[in-house]
Amino acid sequence: MAAAIRTTCAYCGVGCGIAATPSGNAREVTIRGDEAHPANGGRLCSKGTHLGETVGLEGRLLHPMIGDRRASWDKALDLVAKRFAETIAQHGPDSVAFYVSGQLLTEDYYVANKLMKGFIGSANIDTNSRLCMSSAVAAQTRAFGEDVVPASYEDLEEADLIVLVGSNTAWCHPIVYQRIQAARAARGTKLVVIDPRRTETCEGADLHLALRPGSDVALMNGLLAWCAQEGLVDKAYLADCVDVPEGFWDMLEQGHDLWSTANACDLDPARLREFYELFAANPRTVTVFSQGINQSIRGTDQGNAILNLHLATGRIGQPGAAPFSITGQPNAMGGREVGGLASTLAAHMDFAPENVARVGRFWAAPRVAAKPGLKAVDLFRAMNEGRIKAVWIMATNPAVSLPDAGTVRAALEKCPFVVVSDVIAQTDTGAYADVRLPAAAWGEKDGTVTNSVRTISRQRPFLPLPGEARPDWWIVSEVAARMGWASAFAYDTPADIWREHARLTAYQNEGARVLNLAAQATLTNRAYEAMEPFVWGGQPFADGRFSTPNGRARLVPVRQMDLQGPLPDWPLTLNTGRYRDQWHTMTRTGLAPKLARHREEPLVEIHADDAVRFGLKAGDLAKVSTPQGASMFRVALSDGQRPGEIFTPIHWTDQISTGGRTGLLPRPLVDPISGQPGYKSTPAMLARV
Ligand code: SF4
Repeated sequence: MAAAIRTTCAYCGVGCGIAATPSGNAREVTIRGDEAHPANGGRLCSKGTHLGETVGLEGRLLHPMIGDRRASWDKALDLVAKRFAETIAQHGPDSVAFYVSGQLLTEDYYVANKLMKGFIGSANIDTNSRLCMSSAVAAQTRAFGEDVVPASYEDLEEADLIVLVGSNTAWCHPIVYQRIQAARAARGTKLVVIDPRRTETCEGADLHLALRPGSDVALMNGLLAWCAQEGLVDKAYLADCVDVPEGFWDMLEQGHDLWSTANACDLDPARLREFYELFAANPRTVTVFSQGINQSIRGTDQGNAILNLHLATGRIGQPGAAPFSITGQPNAMGGREVGGLASTLAAHMDFAPENVARVGRFWAAPRVAAKPGLKAVDLFRAMNEGRIKAVWIMATNPAVSLPDAGTVRAALEKCPFVVVSDVIAQTDTGAYADVRLPAAAWGEKDGTVTNSVRTISRQRPFLPLPGEARPDWWIVSEVAARMGWASAFAYDTPADIWREHARLTAYQNEGARVLNLAAQATLTNRAYEAMEPFVWGGQPFADGRFSTPNGRARLVPVRQMDLQGPLPDWPLTLNTGRYRDQWHTMTRTGLAPKLARHREEPLVEIHADDAVRFGLKAGDLAKVSTPQGASMFRVALSDGQRPGEIFTPIHWTDQISTGGRTGLLPRPLVDPISGQPGYKSTPAMLARV
C-alpha cells in the first residue's frame, strides 16, 4: 500500500486534515483524519469519513463537450476564447461574467479573478460564496476595515461562554461542535444557542432562545443596551480603539429595554434575562455565527449587531473572546483572500482608485476593473434581461442553488453563450451549457484552501487525472492565453500562482492590511509541496489596531427592521438548510450509500399545530409552495419548529428526484449591502397532496 497523502477535506469550512492512502488499485483510497492537522487533530465527521466512497468515476465529465458532441481541448478552448472576445468587442467587458465557487482552490480562484478584473476589465466575477458568508464579509469590513475573522478554534477552548447564533453546528460544522463539547466537558464552558428551531445543537445547551426569525438585531441591540445600563461597556477600549458614531447610544436607549426586546424577539423575558446575565458573568465570550445570520435580507446589519456587542465590551483580540463567523464551504475564505467576489478587487483591497492603480501595476494589466461588478442574484437577473451575453460557470450549480431557481434557468436558456466547468457530466446547470469543460476533482486537484479560522492547508492530489480532466487554473490560463494574454498567465504549476498571490498580498502593504503572505512569496516548489497548515494574521487586533485608515474599529448603528407577518395567501414562513450527512446538491455525498441512511428523502418539518391546521399527519406527502414555485415533500412532525414556521433541506435536485426541490422556493430578495439572499424566511403555503 502506498504512503498516506496529507490533504484537506472536500466539504465544509472547518477544513479538517485528511490522510488519504490510495490502494494502488483503480481509485480505491482509505481515508482517516490527519492527527497533525490543527483543525481536527485526527477527528472526522460522517461526511469526511466516507469521502473514499465518492472518488469513483461514476457520472464524471471526462472530455470537453461542445453541445452534445465530444471535442478536443484545443477546439473547446478556442471556441470559449473566441466567443468571449467577440462578445467583449461587440458589447463591452461588462457583457460577460464568471460565476465561480467556494469549491475552487485558491490558485484557481486567483487566476479567474485576475483574468476577469485585470485583463477583461470587468468585476463581473461572483461566487456561490455570495450565498454563504458575504454578509459576514460586509459586516467585518464595515467594523474592522478589512474582512478578517478575529477568532481561532483555540478561542472556543479558552472561552467561558459560547453563543451559537443561527448555526446548527452539530450538523453543519460537526468537528467544531465536537471541540465545543470537549471544552465544555473539560472546563464547564456555558453554551447558549440562539435559533428559531430547536436543532440537535441545542441538546445539552445551557439555554436555547427560539427567537422570532429575523429578530437578531433586536436581540443583540437589547443586550448591548442592557450592558450599557449595567456598566459592562468597556469605555477605555472604546476610547482607545473604536470610533462610536454620534447618536449611537441614544439609538440604543429607545425601545431596547428587556420587555421590548423580549416582545420583538417573541421570547420569554425571564429566559432573555438569563442570557444577559450569562453574558455579563463571562467576559471570555465567543459568539459563533453562521447562515441564520448571513442568509437574511438584513444579514450585514445582523452581523454588525454582533460585532458591535464584542467591540463595545472589549471582547475581541484576546484569548477566548471573539466574534466568530464560521464559513460553509471548503475554500470560501481562500476565495475572499484573492478577491474573488464582485464587491472586492484583489487581496482584501476594494476599488479605491489607489488600489486599482496598485493592482494594475502589479499585474501589468491593460484595464483593471474600476468599480464593483454584479453580485450573484443581480448577475443572473442581468442575464435574464439580456445584459450578460456570455457566462462561464465553474464548479457550482446555480440552476439549483440560487433563489428563485426557475428564473435562473430562464436566464441561462436566454444567455447566448454558456460555459460550464465541472467534474460532473449531468447537472441542472450543465443542461444549459454550450461548452462543458471537464475539471479535476477532489483527490486530483493540487493547491491550497483556507478554512474558517484563516488556516491555509494544502489539498494534494492522490489520484491520476481521469480522461481529459484538467485543473481549473490550467483551463482559465489556456483561455486567457488564447485571448492574447499568454505571458501574464504563463503558469507551469499551482506553486507559481501561489507565489504570485502571496506577492500581491504583500505588494505596497505597509502593515495596513492584516492579509500579508510575504513569507510565502519566495517559497520553492519543494517547500510549497511540503507546506504545513499555517494561520495567517496571528491574533488579529490584539494590539487594538484595526485596518481602517485611522486604525480604529467602528461601531455601526443598526436598527431592527419591521418584520413582515404572515401574508393572507402565504400564512407560513419557510426556512431552509442542510442535513447532517449531505453536502450541497449531493453530487459527491450522493455517491456514498451509507450517508443516505441518515435522511433517505427530503422532509418538510412542521409543528403539530400546523399539521392540524392543514389537515396533515406524519408521513403524508405535502406540497410546499411559495410565490416563486412549488415542490413535494414528506411531512415530518417536529416540536423543534415554532408554529407557523416550516423547514426543508437544500440538497435535492432535478437530477435526483422530482420532489424535494427547495431551490425553487426562496424569494430572490437580497441584503442591500452584501447582496446575500435571504433563504431563511420565505412566505409559504402547505397543502396535502
Ligand atoms: Fe469535512 Fe467539515 Fe466534516 Fe471536517 S467537519 S470532516 S471539514 S465535512
